[in-house]
Amino acid sequence: MLIDAGRSGAVAEPPEGEGAPAPGAQRDADAAASCAGRLRASGLRVTSSRLHVLQILAASGGRWTSPDEIYRALLARGVATTVASVYSALRTMEARGLVLREFHSGVNGAKAVYLAAPGTSGDGLEPAVFIVCRQCNADRQVRDRLLRRQLESAARRQGLAAAGQRLTLYITCERCAEGGARG
Ligand SMILES: [Zn+2]
Repeated sequence: MLIDAGRSGAVAEPPEGEGAPAPGAQRDADAAASCAGRLRASGLRVTSSRLHVLQILAASGGRWTSPDEIYRALLARGVATTVASVYSALRTMEARGLVLREFHSGVNGAKAVYLAAPGTSGDGLEPAVFIVCRQCNADRQVRDRLLRRQLESAARRQGLAAAGQRLTLYITCERCAEGGARG
């Protein structure tokens, strides 16, 4: 027997995935629009994998993210993708300056990690200076417009154009320094 639950009023809940937007859906839509705008501004076609990868990076809160982590984050979001298309999207966007790449050393050797370029995360207008431990890769962002400007002009005086680029200060963090001294 077929029951038309909708018309009889027996089921008030909309089917999962439809009806009222879930909390955060509007924020996701805004983030997607912002990332799509970045892609177009850089002259790239907005493809599903570029858009998804950029969104993951833009939402990482300044944390360097590996292609594998991006891939897994996309799967967790229900995005059907492959590691190869994540890499391909990263390479294309890196060439256009939308994402930054670094190599972080780990137990299995150096691995490439990525970050949305400043201005991509929505709050990117605030210039950041990164401080990274060269041993454990702990990283912190210092958001200080004056510091950023001073570093840029110091670099310029040395003949290095740092404007618009990521500035990283490599250090050894206290924990690693202590561990190194003891062990
Ligand atoms: Zn450290």
